[in-house]
Amino acid sequence: MFETATITQSEALYFQILDTAPDAMVVVNRHGNIVFANAQTETAFGHARADLLGKALERLIPERFSAAHKGHLARYFADPGLRSMGSGLELFGRRADGSEFPIEVSLSPVRTSDGVLVSAAIRDVTERKRIEAAAKLSADRLASAVESIQDAFALFDASDHLSLCNSVYRSLIGETVVGPVVGKPYQELLDAWMGDLDFASNEERRLFREERVARRGDLAGSFDVRTRDGRSLRVIDRRTAEGVIVKTIWDLTDDVRREQELGAARAAAEAASAAKSEFLASMSHELRTPMNAILGFAQLLQRDKIEPLSERHKERLQQVLKGGEHLLRLIDDILDLSRIEAGGVAISTESMSVRELLDEVRKTLGPMAARDGIEVTVDAMPEGLPRVAADRTRFLQILMNYGSNAIKYNRPNGKVTFGAFAVDGDRLRITVTDTGIGIAAEQHGRLFQPFQRAGQEMGPIEGTGIGLVITKRLAALMQGTVGFRSVAGNGSQFWIDLPIDRSAPLPDAPVMVRADEPVRIAGQRRPLILYVEDNPANVRFMRDLVNSLEDIELVTASTAEMGVELACERLPQVIIMDINLPGMSGLDALRLLRGQTATRDIPVIALTAAASERDRHRGLAAGFCQYLTKPVRVDELVESLEALLTSRLLGPST
Ligand code: ADP
Repeated sequence: MFETATITQSEALYFQILDTAPDAMVVVNRHGNIVFANAQTETAFGHARADLLGKALERLIPERFSAAHKGHLARYFADPGLRSMGSGLELFGRRADGSEFPIEVSLSPVRTSDGVLVSAAIRDVTERKRIEAAAKLSADRLASAVESIQDAFALFDASDHLSLCNSVYRSLIGETVVGPVVGKPYQELLDAWMGDLDFASNEERRLFREERVARRGDLAGSFDVRTRDGRSLRVIDRRTAEGVIVKTIWDLTDDVRREQELGAARAAAEAASAAKSEFLASMSHELRTPMNAILGFAQLLQRDKIEPLSERHKERLQQVLKGGEHLLRLIDDILDLSRIEAGGVAISTESMSVRELLDEVRKTLGPMAARDGIEVTVDAMPEGLPRVAADRTRFLQILMNYGSNAIKYNRPNGKVTFGAFAVDGDRLRITVTDTGIGIAAEQHGRLFQPFQRAGQEMGPIEGTGIGLVITKRLAALMQGTVGFRSVAGNGSQFWIDLPIDRSAPLPDAPVMVRADEPVRIAGQRRPLILYVEDNPANVRFMRDLVNSLEDIELVTASTAEMGVELACERLPQVIIMDINLPGMSGLDALRLLRGQTATRDIPVIALTAAASERDRHRGLAAGFCQYLTKPVRVDELVESLEALLTSRLLGPST
């Protein structure tokens, strides 16, 4: 273990202790020769101690460092003391097999009886270097991952100092900060950054800062800011379990701009769609007014008992009426479709019994079916059939569409059957099945599309090709879906699936009772009707109509103001009122009439070209006893007049 035997007892003890040290311990004399090497030296360098004692220390050092090492040693002996060797330099040891390994060396002088020696504690730091390299690698990876984040990213340590950030964060926040940003406390960075932010007032700025500081302890938080140069940023903070705050800042400028552009485009589209609806509504009004004259007079001619038409003229007139009815249906359908597409149809869902509705549809379709010799039936339905959530008017419209198609596209003595059953547990399927002509398979893809008549374009059956598309859109508005199956020559089945109303599992309500048949006029007094209308053709038509009735007097007024005056003066049994009038409207006139005792109870029928559902609701809510639309259906008007006049003349008030 030791080169010479000339050592004192305490020196021997010292070397004995060194022998047990965990590091390699080598003692050299001022000539650079090894005078002692401990057991760990043998292990670390792979030399037997005997190979080392008395040999130059360079044996343990890579050759490239040998020359420099001699100089170091000389300098050390000139000023011996405890110190680490080659501080800041990478030091290497050389094993017996020539391989190198990183070492750390600390030197201390040993004063012996032979003079000063130097003891070198040599630690193999291979493992530490490996761990350091691995740690550096993962730190580098983290840094490059953080750097690759496109948004600004920063980590604040538990004492709320910035410990890591990417360059986006640095350029966002750091430009306002003097010196490096990492290491800076949060509040200092916040204050610097606030110089870049845009606030409406100093008060807003103060509140913003107060809130940021107050909410710093939150587990998570997010807030939006605007910069002075017009960018919109969203800041998101999350606190980890270790108390570290992870901050990300997203630049939302493009999103906000896009949203604004989208909002503007949406507003423009809405305005355009509103304009379109308005245009269509006024077009429909304009078209309905002349149609009133065409269809009204045609009906009068048809009914004329004084100068009856010849059969030939009656037939031709029938064509006029048919054409007119078709045009009218087209106007209604187009208006309806464009209103739905413009989002102008309000849906009000309620719970309803399908059986009750189907009975109503069957009765309404009765006359049309009878004309074509078709039998319409409703399948027997189980007592517990669930109710559906739907808009009554629109659901009826759908069933009428399906039902009238099933009659139209049927065969002589054919059948139409309505049915209903639950599907998927939460929907009720309402079916309309016919024994009609069916639809060829190659036409199936064209159904439920606007103006598609699926092969009937040239056929004898009249249609507009809008009914099914309206049906589909209305169904969607009620969260419903539509479908069909059909075989050419073998009938069709159309259906609508509607959500079941689970909130009201009530049994089906009884079928509505219909009003009594109108009673024939049996009056002793000559009844008086007041007609308020500005269009001379319509006035003329009404005159002719009333003349064709038995013994009824008609007075007319071309403005609402005149109408009210006449009503007070003559107290007619019934008033027929147009709504769009020059000056005061028909609605205002009605209000005036309702406000006076003498005229309060006179029934007022609205007869108007304002034919939308909304107009109708508004009219009925205002107090019109009936709301009839132009072109007038003569039978309907006559029926109403007869019923009203009879009750007015026979009723207790007369
Ligand atoms: P329209 O009946 O006015 O032409 P629809 O939109 O109601 O328009 O129907 C579109 C087309 O679908 C019809 O033209 C017809 O070809 C076909 N169709 C609809 N219902 C039936 C049915 N029950 N049987 C046979 N074809 C039908």
